[in-house]
Amino acid sequence: MTFSATSTQLQDTPEARTYNRIRRRLSIADLLLNFAFLIVLLATGLNATLRDWSYHASGQHYSLAVFFYVFVLLVISKAIGFALDYYGFRVEHQFNLSNQKIKSWLWDETKSWLIGLVIAVILVELIYGAIRIAPFKWWLIAWAIYNALAIFFAQIAPVILFPLFYKFYPLTNEELKQRLIRLSENAGTRVRGVYEWKLSEKSKKANAALAGLGATRRIILADTLIQNYSPDEIEAVLAHELGHHVHKHILKSIVVQVGISLIGFWVVAQGLSYAVDRDMFPSVHDFASLPLLVLMTTAMSFILMPVMNAYSRQKEREADRYCFKSISKIAPFISSMNKLADQNLSERTPSRLVELWFHSHPPVAKRIAAAEAWMRQYPTKA
Ligand SMILES: [Zn+2]
Repeated sequence: MTFSATSTQLQDTPEARTYNRIRRRLSIADLLLNFAFLIVLLATGLNATLRDWSYHASGQHYSLAVFFYVFVLLVISKAIGFALDYYGFRVEHQFNLSNQKIKSWLWDETKSWLIGLVIAVILVELIYGAIRIAPFKWWLIAWAIYNALAIFFAQIAPVILFPLFYKFYPLTNEELKQRLIRLSENAGTRVRGVYEWKLSEKSKKANAALAGLGATRRIILADTLIQNYSPDEIEAVLAHELGHHVHKHILKSIVVQVGISLIGFWVVAQGLSYAVDRDMFPSVHDFASLPLLVLMTTAMSFILMPVMNAYSRQKEREADRYCFKSISKIAPFISSMNKLADQNLSERTPSRLVELWFHSHPPVAKRIAAAEAWMRQYPTKA
């Protein structure tokens, strides 16, 4: 395959359009199903029945009852959503984007469900613990706990969570290592590690990311990228990831999340007192209210999606500009974008509404247009 350097005219194939439409519909269906489940729990009183059962099963032990409650809710929720998850797995195969066998997929699903259970149990126990200790100011404690946990998990993710699903090895390619060292020296920074991510065992897609915090911060590069992209193209991808690092994007996201979650917890606390005042729950620490808290949180996240995605796209544009400044020629950036779009079946030109709501990255056509504008401004980079 060849890729022209001036390819803004490249249109999406019907295949890419269909694939992305299906994926979007799947995520909307998943969200609606979750909403429906939570509303049914609250409207039918099933949440209270389940709470009574949890108390009974735990011998009236509060914390143990909370654990049973969360456990049963997550089992039901997984059972309801499983058909959609399986359909999502089938779609990846249908579009020839996955190598993963059903057994391996089922094992991954089990592991992520268990991780979700552990995180949910810790969070819910601590939140209801806070509600019991401080019925009026609990949301401040819960906010602090939530963010401490989020930071903790971001830190351990690349060393403990990701390796549960994929193998990672320190980058061995000497040429790439040298290029990265040169890039980071020019940036006056030091990258703690670059890891090769064995994505090819499960997927035909390619990807790269900056992950971790502090001592675990690293750039990860999919082997599918290392194998099929030229050193110049990989350097462009590395320079983009380095841009995230230099502009402290992970730290900035944490700060934004800390701010937004403060408002979020306050809103949830208001909603909970309102519900208790209207006798929906006998007391503020009645954990039968959990579906209501989750419902409010999910609704807020959905409403905030365009804002969070706009913020993310802005950071991606900043990382791209950093890349344009760092690499000697812009063409490899453009060809890497085109290769990634083809390989991952991404939409180059989604509708404006789709971009606003769903895209954490600017569409490929816009990223390439920005690169071309840069070349016109700095002709030595062309
Ligand atoms: Zn990025």
